[in-house]
Amino acid sequence: MAEPQVEVRRSKRRKQTVSAYRDGEKVVVLLPARMSRAEEKRWVADMLSRLQRSETKRRSPARASDQALAERCRELSARYLDGTEPESVRWVPPMRTRWASCTPADGSIRISRRLRDVPGWVLDYVLVHELAHLLVPGHGPDFWEWVTAYSKTERAIGYLEGLSAAAHLELSLDDDEG
Ligand SMILES: [Zn+2]
Repeated sequence: MAEPQVEVRRSKRRKQTVSAYRDGEKVVVLLPARMSRAEEKRWVADMLSRLQRSETKRRSPARASDQALAERCRELSARYLDGTEPESVRWVPPMRTRWASCTPADGSIRISRRLRDVPGWVLDYVLVHELAHLLVPGHGPDFWEWVTAYSKTERAIGYLEGLSAAAHLELSLDDDEG
């Protein structure tokens, strides 16, 4: 991971606790107002490495390769989609308006590399969504019946909306024609 841009915010109300979170491309570190420069430096480094460790742990093994992505599809499909498998599934360069797409006619699924670093449960939702299009084109009730079998669907949709807003992107999962 590249060295992120860091914004340090000091708060008078904050007495002891230090926290950090990612906001789009940058990391915001919240520190108590009374803290020396040396302490600040140590804490920022510490919080960055903690954040990175927890993000790495949460990422999907499917990020590794197209093969790993296909393997994850098999697992999810066995669990949520009656074993429906795509003819092909692969990582593709970031698309302008979409996180992923599916062409039911030839059974192919493409996943944007923008999703490589999202938590595994978010990528799982995207895969379940695209796999469900192999069974049901479009986004009608039949479609959502399959997808919502994956219990983190709603949370994942919220996560992707937030990610899109933070990155100033207008991305949606796929076009309405499915
Ligand atoms: Zn869709």
